[in-house]
Amino acid sequence: MLLELKDGIIYGPINSRRLGKSLGINLMPGRFKLCSFDCVYCHFGRTDELSVDMREYVNDLPDSDEVVRAVEGALKSSLEFGYVTFSGNGEPTLHPDFPELVDEVVELRDTYRPDAKVALLSNSTALARTGVREAVRKIDAPVFKLDAGTERTFRAINRPARRVDFYDIVERLSSLDGIRVQSVLVDGAPSNISAGELESYFDLVSLIQPVEVHIYSIDRPVPDTGISLVPPERLEDIARAGREATGVPFVAFYK
Ligand code: SF4
Repeated sequence: MLLELKDGIIYGPINSRRLGKSLGINLMPGRFKLCSFDCVYCHFGRTDELSVDMREYVNDLPDSDEVVRAVEGALKSSLEFGYVTFSGNGEPTLHPDFPELVDEVVELRDTYRPDAKVALLSNSTALARTGVREAVRKIDAPVFKLDAGTERTFRAINRPARRVDFYDIVERLSSLDGIRVQSVLVDGAPSNISAGELESYFDLVSLIQPVEVHIYSIDRPVPDTGISLVPPERLEDIARAGREATGVPFVAFYK
């Protein structure tokens, strides 16, 4: 079964493979899936509204006061977690108030949970927006998606909204310091693990120079049945090849 959309602003804490115990902040609607990608492997299923422009959807998004109240309540509670993570149903950086919300959440974290870290899981499509890159610099663990080495594979796997340009994303990622890249690897049709595709992908990682690359494969039912899982031993081989080709630490995650 695919996952249900989260219907609240706060969810978890969940056990994240990358972050350990993480409290989630969902800035996207709960009634329909709104995202700038329609990834073939998305565990929420197909994207209902595919867009990078949130103006039409403002009334469907939680407003800043609601988000701040919900985060403050969770940080003051007895819940245990080491990370507070902007993630959720779609792409958090598309929320019109994302930069201001980062300021608010960092301040609340400093007040109530100074030991917790603030993280972001992003699909990398809103880095052109005013204030988003500056906001990313205030986040302890910003993690950005890069699932392809070529525009053709990017379009086949991430199925982006109009006006999303693959090489713009790569250029913007390469202008940020201290980021992590996460990549979902899939086999079948489409696939991003052919020798040629991996070579191009490693070239882009070399250009971006993240502090770390996290690779993993699908582990839940996915909407597109043409794709299949990349087994753990193959993920480890790719991680080893990635380290050798780029000098960047690659970590493979699997169950
Ligand atoms: S970016 Fe994330 S939420 Fe959006 S379609 Fe891809 S996997 Fe799903």
